[in-house]
Amino acid sequence: MEIARIKAKSSRDNGEHVLNRVNIKQCFKPKQLAVSLAFVISASTSYATDMQLAFNDIPANVNGMSHMNAASALVENRVTIDDMCRKLSNKLGSVRMSDCQGKGLDYAGGNSVAGLPIIVKEYPPIGDRKPLSRVLVIGGIHGDEYSSVSIMFKWMNILNRFHSGLFHWKMVPVMNPDGLLRKKSQRMNARGVDLNRNFPTPNWREESHKYWVYKTKRNPRRYPGPAPLSEPESQWLAEYIEEFKPDVIVSVHAPFGILDFDGPTSAPSKFGKLHLRLLGTYPGSLGNYAGKHQEIPVVTVELPYAGIMPTNREIRRIWVDLVRWLRKNANETLQQAEEKRKQEILTAKTKVVDYSVLP
Ligand SMILES: [Zn+2]
Repeated sequence: MEIARIKAKSSRDNGEHVLNRVNIKQCFKPKQLAVSLAFVISASTSYATDMQLAFNDIPANVNGMSHMNAASALVENRVTIDDMCRKLSNKLGSVRMSDCQGKGLDYAGGNSVAGLPIIVKEYPPIGDRKPLSRVLVIGGIHGDEYSSVSIMFKWMNILNRFHSGLFHWKMVPVMNPDGLLRKKSQRMNARGVDLNRNFPTPNWREESHKYWVYKTKRNPRRYPGPAPLSEPESQWLAEYIEEFKPDVIVSVHAPFGILDFDGPTSAPSKFGKLHLRLLGTYPGSLGNYAGKHQEIPVVTVELPYAGIMPTNREIRRIWVDLVRWLRKNANETLQQAEEKRKQEILTAKTKVVDYSVLP
């Protein structure tokens, strides 16, 4: 079938939407193509911002691929950062256009199922100052936890003013844009997968499904997906972690009003009014995957309400306490490294002694 280039007229920018063969092969079965294209064209605008409105009324498909994926391929990379800022400020009362637009947010290299870009703001090392650690902060992996996205913009406003190079930050404010930007926001992504259960922890296939079936009674809000990293969002995050090699990951949620922690170093006792309470781990969760199995400390910040922001004072206090703990954690990590080095030297010395008694 000759499907190398498909053009669809956009009522919005009057431009062309070109999809290459690779994308089509990845996203379509030939039989679905006609149906999917019909859907795309009947969505009338064939432009991402409007396309999203068409997605809003489609229920998430728990069982796998839906025609949304096909449509999403066509709009991939067509949504600009400004479009995203507009969508976010329309959706979230606490995020103004000026908090987002022109603030250096960038395409992070990944897309959601519906083709929305995952965005990132990097606060890189400054001059010769070597950062104490690399920190990845993630908001909104659950799409209906609005405050977890809004607070990211408040913290970025602090960093925009005060970033000193003490840490190398990467801020990913909206990890699940499809879940958030639907008409009725939902925890899961556009395919009905709880992204925070989709990471490849050991025995994922057995454990996560057993957990979903027996513990959650097939709660659709906890659906772990058909396979580990089956979703583009979780795939992107796993790759991003591998690439950036963060020393600490902070993942923001709501509404439990606590801190949770997974990882090798000491947990923080409190950030602002949020106190440490270990909730245990789940198969496929980010804390389990990165914290337990990759030994990257993962702090889960659970804000008290999904729909109500903490006070400005509390937002700042959480941030200040986070930074304070990061400093302490970095020192602890350094001390651990130093300790390890000493042990290695001692072992080496022991070996020398051992060798010396050999005939
Ligand atoms: Zn959550």
